[in-house]
Amino acid sequence: MAAFPDSASLDGGRLLPLAEDFYTIQGEGRHAGMPAYFIRLGGCDVGCAWCDAKYTWNPRLFPPAEVDSVVGRAVASGARAVVVTGGEPLLYPLGPLTDALTGQGLRICLETSGSHPFSGRFDWVCLSPKHRRPPLEEAFARADELKVVVGSEEDFEWAEENAARTSEKCRLYLQPEWSAAERMMPAIVEYAKARPQWNISIQTHKYMRIP
Ligand code: SF4
Repeated sequence: MAAFPDSASLDGGRLLPLAEDFYTIQGEGRHAGMPAYFIRLGGCDVGCAWCDAKYTWNPRLFPPAEVDSVVGRAVASGARAVVVTGGEPLLYPLGPLTDALTGQGLRICLETSGSHPFSGRFDWVCLSPKHRRPPLEEAFARADELKVVVGSEEDFEWAEENAARTSEKCRLYLQPEWSAAERMMPAIVEYAKARPQWNISIQTHKYMRIP
């Protein structure tokens, strides 16, 4: 497994391994359709077979970048919101990044598997639990949104196990795994209709043909 840069080598988070940053539309979950500046950090140790960001897994491919420069580009984009994603962003100390974004008045959303300790402050946390490396307990308390990827019938049980650990404020979403969407969608629709605490998330950015 790739070695991930530690806090000291990242100057406490003033540097971060940046895979890419760009202004786009959030495609999934509660904020689907919202313009947002995406900050995608490189490095992930979860290894989901269906991951559509495998190019981010190896952090060595992404030399640490200055947080201030990234924040400057986010501000210049005109975006009101930022999505911090990966890879798995919680591998790294996120305090300096989120402090700087907050200082610029930007709303900060996090996309995480919850498998590493939290750092930084966020206005919205989307927890997407993964079988291969389940969330830490603290992630459930922090989650504003639980987004469970469904690739087979067995994933409904996994969804309920995770939902049972969330707080009352947490919105629940089932999202078909892209390659299984056509096959699984009828079952997901019926599941949500019968259990209306669940909502359905689809990857609308793939229909919009945007990253
Ligand atoms: S946690 Fe996210 S980035 Fe990491 S392998 Fe899974 S889907 Fe990909």
